[in-house]
Order: sequence, then C-alpha cells, then structure tokens
Amino acid sequence: MIRLESIRKDYGSMTAVKDLSLEIPAGEICVLLGLSGCGKSTTLRMINKLIPPSSGHIYINGKDADEYPVEKLRQSMGYVVQSIGLFPHFTVAENIATVPRLLKWDNARLDRRIREMLMMVGLDYDTYSKKYPNELSGGEAQRVGVARALAADPPILLMDEPFGAVDPLSRKHLQNEFLKIQRELKKTVIFVTHDVEEAIKLGDKIAIMNCGELQEYDTPEGLIIRCKNQFVKDFLGSEYAIRVLARFSAGGIAHERDAKSEVCVPASENLQVALSVMIERGSSSLTVTSQDGTSVGSISIGDIVDVLRNTEN
Ligand code: ADP
Ligand code: MG
Repeated sequence: MIRLESIRKDYGSMTAVKDLSLEIPAGEICVLLGLSGCGKSTTLRMINKLIPPSSGHIYINGKDADEYPVEKLRQSMGYVVQSIGLFPHFTVAENIATVPRLLKWDNARLDRRIREMLMMVGLDYDTYSKKYPNELSGGEAQRVGVARALAADPPILLMDEPFGAVDPLSRKHLQNEFLKIQRELKKTVIFVTHDVEEAIKLGDKIAIMNCGELQEYDTPEGLIIRCKNQFVKDFLGSEYAIRVLARFSAGGIAHERDAKSEVCVPASENLQVALSVMIERGSSSLTVTSQDGTSVGSISIGDIVDVLRNTEN
C-alpha cells in the first residue's frame, strides 16, 4: 500500500533520513520508533508531501507519489500531530469538517459525519461540537484530532506522536480506543512514537530508526527472536520480551487439558498479567476462565515461553 524506496532527506550537510526503504501493507499499523531527532517526523512529512525527498521514491498503491496532485494525495491521508493540533478559531465541529468541506460535502452529510466521528472517539455531540480547542483537555483535543483525520474516511492515516502530550492514563485510553477503531476501519497507519511500550501495543510491525537510518523492521514478536542489532536490543531494553506478552490474551493460548490449578485468570487477561499472577501465587500453571467463571483450559509457564516463539510470520 505504501512503499518507500531509498528515501533520503538532506538539510545542507546534515542527513535527516538516509536510504530508507520500507513497505507498509494495507490495513496494518507500522510504528516508526526511535529517539528524538532520528528522522521520524521528516519521514512522515515526505510521505504527506509537506517536504520533498532529496532522493528516492514513495509509492502509494503502486503509483509514484509524484504522479498524484498534492491535494488529492493529502486528502487520502489523515494526518494527526501532537503539537500543531487543531485550528484554534474553529469549533470542534468545524475542525472535524475541515477536509469534508474541501470535498464540498453538503451540510446534512457534514453534520451526520461530525456526529458519527464524535461518537466514535467518545465525545458527546451536544457538549463538545461547539467548543473551541482552548476549552478542551489535552486528551479531548487529541480525540478531536483523530476525528478530524478520519472524517473524510482516508485510507491512510499518518500519526506523529499523537498521544505524546497527554497524561499516562488518558494515553492508555486513547491507545485502546484507537485500536478499537482500527480493528473496524483497517486503515493503513504509520504511527510515530519514541515510546517502546506504545510501539508494542499498537504496532503490527515496528520500524526502528537511528540517526536517519532504519535499523530493524519486524513484528513485535519477531524483534525478540530475530533481532541481531545491538543498538535495537539496547533501545528496546532487556525486559522487552516481558512487555510483548501484553499483546497476547490468556484465552488465546489456553490448552484444553485438565485444568487443575486453583489459580485462575479470565480469558481476556493478557499474558503479562497472567505471568505476574503465576509468580505472585507461586504457581507454574493457571486455569483460564470464561466470563461466567467456568474453565476454558489451562496455561503453563512453558506455554507462555512458547507463544513468543510460535508467532512467526
Ligand atoms: P524526529 O521526528 O525523529 O524527532 P525529525 O525528523 O524531526 O526527528 O528530525 C530529524 C533531524 O533533522 C533532526 O536532527 C532535526 O534537527 C533535523 N531537521 C528537521 N527538520 C529540519 C529543517 N527544516 N532544517 C534543518 N534540519 C532539520
Ligand atoms: Mg518528530
């Protein structure tokens, strides 16, 4: 869906992005992860044609981005950023309507869409539609930012540290809501962050950059098994594998063998929590229960170790 071919961006003698090649399949979330200044935002800006690459090519749906008129290209990409944010003199409703208005939607359709978008991001229409950005909390403003980016239903979403400025709890909420929305809409997403935890949670694949260069590009699980790059290993941290466990549910790996352990976890609980419960309770296996409390099987420590190794793709 999006293919970068040897993209490079020079600022004078400084190279912000160096020979970056990356393929992002349709419907997936690709997280660009790296330290501040490693070239993440520059990469997004090139994809969005805010700045031209010094060399290399960007293909959208197999067609060179140069062949698309800028406006057409931008309308096919929702863009969410942390800092520029919303237009301060527009209400929430007007902010959300930005691109649909450019596309000349009629008022009835616009209003329907604004209501739909606010509902999707969990904001009440009557309370919020007429507010101005300075009357919103950081988390609310980010929700409106996401609603605005999705309003014209673009197939591509570029998100540059969108949840970076909100408190940790709101950030978790926003991440969960975004994942819920994404499961339904299946946009092709490039999501920039410097936060390893956020990358693990959201990424179908993670592209790790350093000093403008791509270091590794793999699934979160693949990075545990295949990564040989020392910079990446240090950057992800020695507890990385434990963190990746949060991506899997206990129900997903429960074996239908006799569940003997009195220590239980709900099937919806993630494996990081399951492992923590095992350690706390001094038990090397767990019974996994459904919502009504009946057993759906069991998991052992060995099953948890195996899950990270059996998710090859
Ligand atoms: P990130 O988003 O990963 O924090 P950026 O892509 O914003 O990093 O920046 C990458 C590098 O390019 C940084 O060293 C930054 O200072 C430099 N840079 C970005 N934009 C410009 C510009 N317009 N002129 C000169 N240097 C820039
Ligand atoms: Mg940046």
